[in-house]
Amino acid sequence: MKKTNVAENRTDKLEPCLAIIGAGFSGIGMAIRLKQSGYRNFTIFERSDNVGGTWRDNTYPGCACDVASHLYSFSFEKKSDWTKVFSDASEIYQYLLSCVEKYQLENHIKLNTTVSDMRFDSSANQWAISTVSNETFHADMIINGTGPLNKPNIPNIPGIENFTGKIFHSSQWDHEHQLDGRNVACIGTGASAIQFIPEIVNKVRSLKVFQRTPTWLVPRLNRNYSSLTKWVFKNVPGVRNFYRLFIYWRNEYYGIAIIGYPFFNNLLQKASKLYLRTKVKDPELRKKLTPNYQIGCKRINISDDYYESLQRPNSDLITEPIISITSTGVTSADGETHECDTIIFGTGFVTTKYLQPMKIYGSKGKELTEQWAGSAESYLGISVAGFPNYFLLLGPNTGLGHNSVVFMIEAQIEYVIKALSYLKEAKKSFIDVKLERQETFCDSTQNKLEKFSWGSGCDSWYLSENGKNYSIWPGFTPSYWWKTRKFDVASYHVS
Ligand code: NAP
Repeated sequence: MKKTNVAENRTDKLEPCLAIIGAGFSGIGMAIRLKQSGYRNFTIFERSDNVGGTWRDNTYPGCACDVASHLYSFSFEKKSDWTKVFSDASEIYQYLLSCVEKYQLENHIKLNTTVSDMRFDSSANQWAISTVSNETFHADMIINGTGPLNKPNIPNIPGIENFTGKIFHSSQWDHEHQLDGRNVACIGTGASAIQFIPEIVNKVRSLKVFQRTPTWLVPRLNRNYSSLTKWVFKNVPGVRNFYRLFIYWRNEYYGIAIIGYPFFNNLLQKASKLYLRTKVKDPELRKKLTPNYQIGCKRINISDDYYESLQRPNSDLITEPIISITSTGVTSADGETHECDTIIFGTGFVTTKYLQPMKIYGSKGKELTEQWAGSAESYLGISVAGFPNYFLLLGPNTGLGHNSVVFMIEAQIEYVIKALSYLKEAKKSFIDVKLERQETFCDSTQNKLEKFSWGSGCDSWYLSENGKNYSIWPGFTPSYWWKTRKFDVASYHVS
């Protein structure tokens, strides 16, 4: 077993040795800001053979971001030449690669290194990081940026093992498996499925879309930026920043409706129904596509072509529940077996096992997932009591349904930088959030969430097994920025 410090070329003995877990948006952003702030002693552990996280993994046809790219990018690394308002996954992935190159992060990244467990050693005031290949590293601080949406959820439908055709999940798209002329079943109608269904419908012979719950949908109105617009973004001072701010505040404004203020919520619901009515003339199909829960309770989806794709002659929307899979098809509750040779699961991700299979043992030896046991309690989604010198990026209750999560990630990154600066100035090396502060924060978060759309009674991946919501930030994002703008030393045990 190799035992080494994360930093091999330690130049400043006062500088903490930092380990970042995951080289997605969070990990890369953290590394850039550490470098910009003068830290050199950090390593990113990445289990895959490249950086990029969700934007590396999701390559399904039509994969794109629902947040406009000028906002879904770092404020400290803006890009003028985004090709579209809502860029494709490949362009976002290239953006992340270019960040790694520009800020020369390559030497800080350990690819193909899967962390199996991390243990805080109170006597040494250090974390021991073990990998699946039996290496051990040591670090003073951990910054965990592994993200919640990376474990494909493939439902255990009876008979699935008997299917003789091809099965894959949207985040593990099999590009070798040509879909032309195939009979395809798509299970799920969430954010990913509504993007790939319009892309494949014209290729396949038949497409059976299995919908469990209809989604609220609004138009995307995507378009390419002209060369002139890109030139203006690049060369006219202030325009790009102004545009970014405009997108941000426009999303916050939509947030009034999504979060659930009744008048605006009703208005948005009516607008979405109107869109459905204009796009789908068949009342039978429209009825199947009309949600029966409050808009905003589950994630709202945006698409310009999903409804059209369901009305192609070769596509069929099936709303009968699935009861089993046979060797040649999917059987629904009405007894019909829908013959197919390919099943694509657009069934989302396992979010309740957020950090697993990684094990994280805090100062009293308690494992984090066990401590959470369905209640992922944290302070600001960044710190967890009993887990000293450990920060989460995009941790519990910091996801969004209305604006860019990169905004939240950046707020967290700045909080970590401020915490590190505080420790350096105060010549301290141990912080652990106070349990009572964490409890107060969680109680107030859950109280707010219950009052808004997310607590209005639908079932969604935002909810944990105990029915509580540990996914979403309960409100507008300036309030998160406000709470994280300073490192809140009074909320921590420091020594
Ligand atoms: P998702 O939005 O959670 O959708 C999963 C779909 O699968 C839902 O329709 C769900 O139905 C259905 N489903 C799940 N289990 C099922 C089962 N056992 N039987 C039948 N249907 C089942 O998943 P996703 O589309 O992968 O997206 C996950 C998240 O990733 C999104 O919420 C979003 O945050 C992010 N994302 C973003 C984008 C974007 O920016 N455009 C794109 C993709 C993903 P129910 O509704 O009934 O549960």
